[in-house]
Formats: sequence, C-alpha cells, structure tokens
Amino acid sequence: MIPKKVTIYEVGARDGLQNEKGVISTDVKIEFIGRLVAAGLPIVEATSFVHPKWVPQLADAADVMTALGDAGKDMPVLVPNERGLDRALELGLKHIAIFGSATETFAQKNLNRSLDEQFAMFEPTVARGRPGSTSAPTSPCASATRGRARSPSTEVVSVGKRLFDLGASQLSLGDTIGVGTAGHVKDLIAAFCQAGMEIDDLAMHFHDTYGRAPANTYSALQEGISTYDASAGGLGGCPYAKSATGNLATEDLVWMLNGLGIEHGVDLDAVVETSVWMAGHLGRPSPSAVVRALAAG
Ligand code: MG
Repeated sequence: MIPKKVTIYEVGARDGLQNEKGVISTDVKIEFIGRLVAAGLPIVEATSFVHPKWVPQLADAADVMTALGDAGKDMPVLVPNERGLDRALELGLKHIAIFGSATETFAQKNLNRSLDEQFAMFEPTVARGRPGSTSAPTSPCASATRGRARSPSTEVVSVGKRLFDLGASQLSLGDTIGVGTAGHVKDLIAAFCQAGMEIDDLAMHFHDTYGRAPANTYSALQEGISTYDASAGGLGGCPYAKSATGNLATEDLVWMLNGLGIEHGVDLDAVVETSVWMAGHLGRPSPSAVVRALAAG
C-alpha cells in the first residue's frame, strides 16, 4: 500500500516566503527557486499572483516569473481570482494553483468571504484555466481548519470535493494550523475516498505546529497517498494561528522517504545547503530538525 515513488510539491518559494516580514530581494527568490530545481524537486510552486496589498512579499511575482523565462512556464503559481489568472496568462504560464478554504469559518478568516463567494470567485478562474484552454490547473488546495474534532467533518469533505470538481487535476488537503494527528489523517483520507475521490487525486499539506507533520505523513503514506507539499527548511506559517510554525520541511520528508526506500529524486544535501543559505538571508536558523542535524554534521 505504501507507494514506491513519491512526488514532492515544493512550496517554499510561495507558501514559505509569503508571510516573511523582512524584504527578500527578487534576486534571492530567483536563486532560491533555481537551487530547488537543481536539487531535483520535480514541482516548485514559484510565487503568487495575489494582490500585493494582501501579500506584499510577493509583489514581484511578475519579475520573478519573467526572470525564470521558459523554465518558469512549467512551474505552478498561485492565483486567487481571474485577475491573478490574467497576470499569469500574460506571462505564458501553464499551471495554476488555487488555495481555498474547506470550512465556512476558515473562509471568513482567510479570505474574508463566505464559501459561496469563494466558489463564485474560483469557478470562472478554473474554467478558463482548464486543459484545452491556455493553462492547466494543477493543484487547487483545500485548507481545512478542522478544530480538534476526532472525526473528519462532512463539511471539509464536501467543500474539498467541490473544489476538485471545478476541474482540478489534484486536491491538496491542508492542515494549515497543524492540529491533525495520524488518526485524523487516516479517517480524512477514508472519508474522501468514500465520497468518490481516487487516492491519486489527493495530496497532503502538513504543518509541524505540534510536531506531528512526519507522523501524519507516514499515516498518509500507509493509505497510499503519493504527493506531498513540503517547504525547504520548514519555511512558512499561518498568519491566522499565532503559534503555527512552518510547513513540513522538505528535508524532514526526504529523510523519512530515504529511510523507507521510497523514490523521490531529490538531493537531500543540496536542499539542506539551500535552506542554510536561505536562513542566512532571513537571519534565523531553520526550524527543521533534519536541517539542523545535517548542517551541524
Ligand atoms: Mg502551508
């Protein structure tokens, strides 16, 4: 049941950097993305075409994508709406990601909208981005704030499936505040499968807030999930949860996959070097235990 091969969807350059307070230069972002690609990461989400008022750190999205040239055209970018899609299409980009909320509560907090308003915004965006049109959506993400309930909420499953059914190629389930545990993960995957989703339609996006991200990943591996979002060095957090630490670190994921003999194509040492280099630009060490151990080694 555990997959032989896993695809790592690297989110460090977008999800990882978007909430950084200090200015990170466009050149550093471009080098960061180049290093991640050189380290063998097969999918690197490069930036976000969210309005700069909401995410000032990524206001240079067009400059970054222009500098990446043809290499950037295959990298997914986050687009929140049709205006963001227009900006991506003007640059000839081929893959978009949509980030949505899986509950009414999170929709209000994250996007300041109701779920119905969220879908009214996404429907035309994804419709225009479908294969056969100028761009193909890759990874709309449903971010779930499930609180601490033991059972997966039927709301999360129905909203997540509705997002996928817009025409996405994959649905990434996000535990943005990191409260999920291995049992939640197993139950949530089962609930999505019962609702008619295939295991390969699902990806996982874990946060290490409570130190559960590697255990949750192992739980999802046992269920056969073969795509995982991860962020080099564990960069990123959630602005709506003060204690939330970063995304699952790419290095923590790769370390575990190596131990399990699962193929991934990523050079661990090269990612660690990249995270140490980026930590120098951010002025603080990586929170990833694997980065700290290998960098000290
Ligand atoms: Mg995240």
